Amino acid sequence: MAVCDICMTPTNWNAGATYSPDQFRALVHRGFEPDAATMATAFAQFPIAVARKAWKQGALESPTVWLLCPSCARRAANIAPDIVPSGIPEKSTSSPAQPESTASNSGCAIILALVVAATAISLLLTVGLVVGHSIAER
Ligand SMILES: [Zn+2]
Repeated sequence: MAVCDICMTPTNWNAGATYSPDQFRALVHRGFEPDAATMATAFAQFPIAVARKAWKQGALESPTVWLLCPSCARRAANIAPDIVPSGIPEKSTSSPAQPESTASNSGCAIILALVVAATAISLLLTVGLVVGHSIAER
């Protein structure tokens, strides 16, 4: 089952819309981003400005095809009616067996990177607190 690269809603290659990396970059430059609810859920542990910036950076760097559910595709079409999704990827190209693994990765990879960063930050904070505490006790 494929999921929407934007809001993680289960969708499929027939119902959804696909954008090439170039098309998607153009969309992002026009201001396309996950809706507020998705941002709040997926990036809950981050200030919204940080989440937006990280998502945008990851989206612009992503080399993979994007799969958008009908709802996200509608938002994209509203922002940039002239950017027409490329449709269902050719099944006969490089990875015929699982087109899903190419497209559904980008969003997840970005979230994963953020989670790793958050873990590292909280670890640093914890160490800082422990060190601060033991110094204070002396
Ligand atoms: Zn979506």
